[in-house]
Amino acid sequence: MFAKILIANRGEIACRVAATARRLGIRTVAVYSEADAQARHVSACDEAVCIGGAAPQDSYLRWERILEAARATGAQAIHPGYGFLSENEGFAQACADAGLVFIGPPPAAIAAMGLKAESKRLMEAAGVPLVPGYHGADQDARLLKAEAERIGYPVLIKASAGGGGKGMRRVDAPEAFDDALASCQREALNSFGDAAVLIEKYVQRPRHIEIQVFADAHGNVVYLFERDCSVQRRHQKVLEEAPAPGMPPQLRERMGLAAVAAARAVGYVGAGTVEFIVEQPQGYDHPEAMRFYFMEMNTRLQVEHPVTEAITGLDLVEWQLRVAAGERLPLAQHELRLQGHAIEARICAENPDNHFLPATGTLAAYRKPACSAFAVADVRIDDGVAEGDTISPHYDSMIAKLIVRGDTREQALARLDQALAQLHIVGVANNVAFLRQVVRSESFARARLDTALIEREAAVLFHPQPVPLPAAVAIAVAHTLHSEACSAAAVAAHDPWDARDGFASHGERSRRFAFLWGDDTVPARLTWRRDGTHWLVVGEGDAAVAGALRWRASPGGGWALGVSFAGADWRTSVYAQGERLHLFTPQGSAAIVEVDLLAHAGDTAAEGGSLTAPMPGKVVAVLVQPGDAVKKGQPLAVLEAMKMEHTIAAPADGTVAEVLYAPGEQVPEGAALLRLGAE
Ligand code: ADP
Ligand code: ADP
Ligand code: MG
Repeated sequence: MFAKILIANRGEIACRVAATARRLGIRTVAVYSEADAQARHVSACDEAVCIGGAAPQDSYLRWERILEAARATGAQAIHPGYGFLSENEGFAQACADAGLVFIGPPPAAIAAMGLKAESKRLMEAAGVPLVPGYHGADQDARLLKAEAERIGYPVLIKASAGGGGKGMRRVDAPEAFDDALASCQREALNSFGDAAVLIEKYVQRPRHIEIQVFADAHGNVVYLFERDCSVQRRHQKVLEEAPAPGMPPQLRERMGLAAVAAARAVGYVGAGTVEFIVEQPQGYDHPEAMRFYFMEMNTRLQVEHPVTEAITGLDLVEWQLRVAAGERLPLAQHELRLQGHAIEARICAENPDNHFLPATGTLAAYRKPACSAFAVADVRIDDGVAEGDTISPHYDSMIAKLIVRGDTREQALARLDQALAQLHIVGVANNVAFLRQVVRSESFARARLDTALIEREAAVLFHPQPVPLPAAVAIAVAHTLHSEACSAAAVAAHDPWDARDGFASHGERSRRFAFLWGDDTVPARLTWRRDGTHWLVVGEGDAAVAGALRWRASPGGGWALGVSFAGADWRTSVYAQGERLHLFTPQGSAAIVEVDLLAHAGDTAAEGGSLTAPMPGKVVAVLVQPGDAVKKGQPLAVLEAMKMEHTIAAPADGTVAEVLYAPGEQVPEGAALLRLGAE
């Protein structure tokens, strides 16, 4: 076995590889870009070498620097992780030339599987079933269109060199073919430097089912069962599970043997994944009718390998290291067992409600459910970030992978739902709430899987609102009073449960609040009653909701606060980011802005008040209209800048003469937002 390896990657996969190496007593060398100097993968390794600038082409893709780092530190082997150089046969060859072991397949196997069209020709010869299609070298546009006609619409045009869901066009009718071809070729050339395409029949009701294979250098090849990765957005995986729901054992074996044949056909060594597209010609309830076709082979460790680890009890990185060191596969096919069910959710910095646009920002809060790394844990989190880290635009938008295991799919689903509720991320837009909706959707819960699941369930997946307004206000008020009581108690060094909750000391019997909920401003009034209880009124007039408000700290289950209001009980953890409160509950999360009336009244008195923007930002809300009479300290508008909300309050009593900006508009620093006239 190796004494020291270099990990040519970053983020969660670098941490993942380092953890197994540590367990096996292998020393590790990290490489990092200038942007990653403080990254977790650097501290996860025994040594670290800076290899250049933030952009991947200046660091993680620079072979010479990486090989130099390996030489300088005495590493014997290089683990490429996934992405970056993992499927680059030139790099694999350069490692060999430098006397280093590349922890992956031989360069020739990477090359053979690198181009989709060529690999399909090879697989055809090896007897692996292919999607009906055209994979020829002749790229004449008229010929391609004739082939599409022969295959029959709908068809899929794919960049032969493509990957990561890029360079694919579905075409439903001949009229649309020419434009789709041109745009696919353009994207293929731009992204992969190769305009060649292939054409395939578009499989109806398709499921993505892939087989994990492993081969050693002694001629042994096994399959470690399948993963179902049908839940996708933009042809990219979101949820992955093992085993595939409803998989008939005979089909598992046939697909497993086909994958082994594919690996043998290219002289494969190490971990690989053979991806199949599976047709469900008789619908979801007839898995026995499923037909599978080879799609491509990924010649590396896959992002979703943990679900296979969870159902086999094996550490696939350990297997990779053993095979690369020349050992035989630890187990033969008949010794492999599949037990239980596992699901992985990819936690990404992105905005599902806005076309899944990737997001950046700082992890102001990043709290995880109770979990452990590795193998057969019930809840496992693989990540490479910590609270306070920045998700930058330079790298992948995946923040973490959440993997759950259960004896049955039902149990795994319940654990996933619970774990997602306990994963609290503030400061970066993310897909946690969206994933929860997917997990709870009818299609996913009943395993009616195909790659169009997200489109089909769109009505319930986007813009979820799991916490109703009155509950959000009650939680926000309870949180504020609880925090005030805690800090007052800390100052007085009192038992917090003895301290009054802030307003008795001000001599008030009731207290007003104002909240922003979406575009609406919501007033609330809390009254302290003689019997020591609190009465909360949320909203005004007929729409008002009123009831006793109760709260207590640490209600159990890992939650910070228990709140009862208007007949409902909520467990919650609240994170404040300026005036914005992020509320997490077992039912889901919400954000509400508390306009701090007391603080703003104080500010304006001290500073003489100002109607100008304190920094460049965006107007989130204007709370008044021209002609409104306003009191000193009353909130007039809310500005968002640097991800924080700032309230502009009236410096004195008066009447609103003019509103100069509308919600959504950008304002420069120092710009006046409104004009007040004297009363
Ligand atoms: P997998 O096939 O392992 O499930 P995906 O299909 O989601 O992974 O992505 C395909 C490949 O593209 C993966 O190896 C992924 O790491 C890689 N990839 C995607 N985006 C980036 C990026 N920004 N930087 C490096 N690699 C990336
Ligand atoms: P990539 O290299 O980008 O991962 P793949 O060839 O693996 O490209 O395809 C990615 C996804 O596109 C699949 O998981 C599947 O959802 C969809 N897809 C690919 N081929 C077909 C097809 N012939 N019919 C329907 N969907 C397909
Ligand atoms: Mg793929």
